[in-house]
Amino acid sequence: MVEQDRNTELYRDLDKKLPSEEPQIIYGIGASPGIVTASARVFRRRTGSAAWRRLTPDRIDGEIRRFRDAVTTAECELQQLRTSLADDLSDALSIIDSHLLMLKDRMILERTIEIIRNQHINAQWALATALGLVKKKFDVIDDPYIKQRYMDVKHVADRIFGVLSGRADELLSDGTAKVIVIGHDFSPEDILHMQADTVLGFITEEGGITSHTAIVARSLGIPAVVGVKDITCICGSGDRVILDGFSGRVCLHPTPDQLNQYLEYDRRHQCSARELARYADLCSETRDGHWVRLAGNIEMVGEITTIRQYGGEGIGLFRSEFDFFSSASLPDEDHLTLVYSEMIAAMAPLPVTIRTLDVGGDKFSNRLPHNGPRLDLERNPALGLRSIRYSLREPALFILQMRALLRASVHGKLRILLPMISSPSEVLSVKALCTNVGRELEKEGIPFDHDVQVGIMIEVPSAVILADSLASEVDFFSIGTNDLIQYSLAIDRGNQYVAHMYEPLHPAVLRMIKQTVDAGHHQGIEVSMCGEMAGDPVCAAVLLGLGLDELSMRPSAIPYVRRLLRGSRYQQLVALGGKILACRDVDEIRRYLARYLPDHYPEEFCNP
Ligand code: PEP
Ligand code: MG
Repeated sequence: MVEQDRNTELYRDLDKKLPSEEPQIIYGIGASPGIVTASARVFRRRTGSAAWRRLTPDRIDGEIRRFRDAVTTAECELQQLRTSLADDLSDALSIIDSHLLMLKDRMILERTIEIIRNQHINAQWALATALGLVKKKFDVIDDPYIKQRYMDVKHVADRIFGVLSGRADELLSDGTAKVIVIGHDFSPEDILHMQADTVLGFITEEGGITSHTAIVARSLGIPAVVGVKDITCICGSGDRVILDGFSGRVCLHPTPDQLNQYLEYDRRHQCSARELARYADLCSETRDGHWVRLAGNIEMVGEITTIRQYGGEGIGLFRSEFDFFSSASLPDEDHLTLVYSEMIAAMAPLPVTIRTLDVGGDKFSNRLPHNGPRLDLERNPALGLRSIRYSLREPALFILQMRALLRASVHGKLRILLPMISSPSEVLSVKALCTNVGRELEKEGIPFDHDVQVGIMIEVPSAVILADSLASEVDFFSIGTNDLIQYSLAIDRGNQYVAHMYEPLHPAVLRMIKQTVDAGHHQGIEVSMCGEMAGDPVCAAVLLGLGLDELSMRPSAIPYVRRLLRGSRYQQLVALGGKILACRDVDEIRRYLARYLPDHYPEEFCNP
């Protein structure tokens, strides 16, 4: 059944019986695009809590056996789910594979057994204790991507809990009524179990757009909003809900007017991921022929399929930290060479931008070597030994990565991106290091691309101010607004108390972007953006008008931005950019865009 039919059906129902509760709009994070309206089905799932039981010594071995059996059963369940999935669901398959590996990981398996054995307590309690220890480690990490990996460990532990407590998988819909399911959190496997014809979408309290749950929702085309605080308390089963997976809005007890507006928006939008698929093969150019590269940001090689699926014209940002954090030991040069080569070859002839290690600040790992302070113990890590500063201080690891990058460069079009550059001297130090690495490779007779492009992230105000000097030293700029906003507005990007002040459309941020674009173009180099704002259609409209050559974003956002680009004339975008740059405060900018965008792009924007 198409979305429109479902919504109309609900609308008829609503027409008969107006809601008695007050309409309420709550904001979360749009994790999977699409708009759906339906009744809520709220899950207050028993999670991994359990009664504490002390075991007599003669029962310990039996309890350990019970725990091992539960892990084996959980493994069989996951294997079964895996075989039931179609091969083209590659994201889902690799997520299940990672969950299968986690079942066997020391932090869950061995640690729980140790706790049962040493503390003489029951398996559920021991598992909860082991999970608590894992959580403590993740709690001190601010990086949203890495933080989301804790949720994977929790989902795996929850599955074992389920087996230990004899709990069957709850069905998220009863198979008859069409519902929007709401819960504290759903695992990727829960989403795979959702029946698309009755579960229209889901809302969770936990999660972010990089969670595996969100990734699976996007690949299945199930609209989702995540990170909606207290939604399971505010909303009850049977309440009417509008879920807007584009903007992250959830409308509870909508009035007939609100519902009408959404239905109209939805009708015009017709923007489900599948409907937008045709934009994957179209060129990223305006109606008057101005081309802008739309590329994807990824953290794992497996995500290349997603870039292809959404028609990305290259990788604008590969966050290489993942390979350093994801296994028990640091990767060696051959492993990295293989990973980078595969990625570059798979995308060839399109460009692949690999950012060198961006650790420190909110992304650290205790496994990284350090001669100075421990990165996680720094007093002010965002201003500390981060990114390129760490790499220059610990050159061995940086040289290893640089060798791997150069070795892989022969497989296609590699661009090396240096994070958090704050002064030209850092660029010169890196270049000297690269020259040495190149010389060594030559001596060893190892081929590499001598013309590989080296660019820098512009994410610190000093880099914006010195953009003209920096532009003469590098081949391209990539503006990292996630950090540029943090450093220029003095807003910690991971601090929820100032999150409302974290404003991509702040005039200071926009002027810095423009200054960077102008400085880069003046020296004849390309200026790209890989911060989150590049994938937000409202911001993208402005950014396109500021003259960026490339926007790199989470892959699923590419079709939306491409549609916007293809519906525009370049001069109209430039005029919009000019108008916005002249605004003096954020409210003025937002108000202007709230009128301008629905007027000029009625298919893409509406004001529900
Ligand atoms: C940025 O800062 O905008 C960026 C893309 O880098 P990260 O989010 O990985 O810090
Ligand atoms: Mg950054």
